[in-house]
Amino acid sequence: MKAQGVRIIAVEAGSLAWKTGLRADDLLLEINGEPVLDQLSYQFLISQRDRTHLKVRRPDGSLLQARLANGGEGIGLDLAADEVKVCRMNCVFCFVHQMPPGFRKSLYLKDEDIRLSFLYGHFTTLSSSDGAELDRIVRERLSPIHVSVHATDPQARVKVTGNPREGHILRKIDHLLEGRVDVHTQAVIAPGLNDGATWERTLAELWERRKQGPGGGVLSLSCVPVGLTAHREGLPEVASFTPEGAAAWIRRWEPEVRRRTRENGGEPWLLLADEWYTRAGIEVPGRSFYSRTWSQLENGVGLVRRFMEHTRGFLDRPRALGFRDRRLLLLTGASFAPILERAAARLNRAAGASVRVAAVRNRAFGDSVTVAGLLCGRDLLYAAHADREARPGPWVDAVVVPSASLRTHTGPTDQYTLRGARPRAEGTFLDDMTLAELAAQVGVPVVPGGEHFSHLLDHLRWIERQPLPADLARGFHTGGLNQPQGAYNP
Ligand code: SF4
Repeated sequence: MKAQGVRIIAVEAGSLAWKTGLRADDLLLEINGEPVLDQLSYQFLISQRDRTHLKVRRPDGSLLQARLANGGEGIGLDLAADEVKVCRMNCVFCFVHQMPPGFRKSLYLKDEDIRLSFLYGHFTTLSSSDGAELDRIVRERLSPIHVSVHATDPQARVKVTGNPREGHILRKIDHLLEGRVDVHTQAVIAPGLNDGATWERTLAELWERRKQGPGGGVLSLSCVPVGLTAHREGLPEVASFTPEGAAAWIRRWEPEVRRRTRENGGEPWLLLADEWYTRAGIEVPGRSFYSRTWSQLENGVGLVRRFMEHTRGFLDRPRALGFRDRRLLLLTGASFAPILERAAARLNRAAGASVRVAAVRNRAFGDSVTVAGLLCGRDLLYAAHADREARPGPWVDAVVVPSASLRTHTGPTDQYTLRGARPRAEGTFLDDMTLAELAAQVGVPVVPGGEHFSHLLDHLRWIERQPLPADLARGFHTGGLNQPQGAYNP
């Protein structure tokens, strides 16, 4: 990894860095003799010692070296944003390849970055991680890392990922485990490609490496059914799981989840994504089926169960009466709609509310895409209009959209984005329609649903007091916002 340095974009007046003479446009090259690779590396290195040795290149090419007694604290530097890395894969089910044309540029970016994996739980295939980067993960203790394995059989992994150089994922995983880094893993399962014996081998080889002591280990393995959009022209044929196929998968692997949970000291290790259940039309299992810490929630494991648990607790509390006499339309994807409908019916009975649910067709990506996180503004608008037309007379007081369908791009993940991408604090859908634009066209307030009814109640109360916030994250709960594209999320 080359020490190119990171540009300083601002220095806090009066800070240690300021007093040392550091200024904007200086290039921070090294801290304590280690190359500064990015913001994460800076944070790690600056916190390592009480006294820090800096090496900086000035805009005129001269070198500045300084020793600071910072006590392991930050020194007042603001560093340039890191550009996200791009994967070297060509996966047969890659969501980016299946994007319809006409969306904003950043949605066509095949981002894959160990920094995002460490900070936000995004999965990486490690294709852009060479030996030096694996060493960096170990050195900076970026643990746990989230790795898309798909298959441990090298031939099968090459077939799935389309990269003949990336078959041996276990070599990279073992490198991390030997460095005492823990790993969460996932496999996206495509029928005929990496199910059957290939999946059994993947499961066995990762299970052998499960965390059992103080060293590095595999913390979990989730399996997720492949998701396909309607836009696969020119792409390899990939089958998807039918409802019967998903039900068969559940029958085969649910007992295995329970058996391995017992062998793993009561902590679930093998995880089945919610989408197996929503696809099969089978209710998700109880709380003990999921990790105590809800690990892999961002990957669509346990979201439905967690929502159901929240709902049960919420309806038992007087706070639920905050929904009394409210007339709401809740829009969501087809897979979550039946679950939300049952919850809304219970809320109506418990609180005297009039909450209805509409399953929104995904016209942008096709009917096969049923998750809420991939609904576009135009799809939601169409569904709201259709509902209004079907109901003459007084309509609803507010429309509720899934938080997972909104992006703000002003959170910490935006340090890792396309340079020049415009932050949209007000909240946009995938097609760039803003929440405010949707509300203007719908004619009633529109709010994000948050992660459960308690969040939703807060949001409704917010818009009763003031208009939509200019910065969505300042007015509403941020849970569920800014999900990675392709993520399953109700
Ligand atoms: S699925 Fe992920 S790793 Fe595979 S090609 Fe797409 S972006 Fe890259």
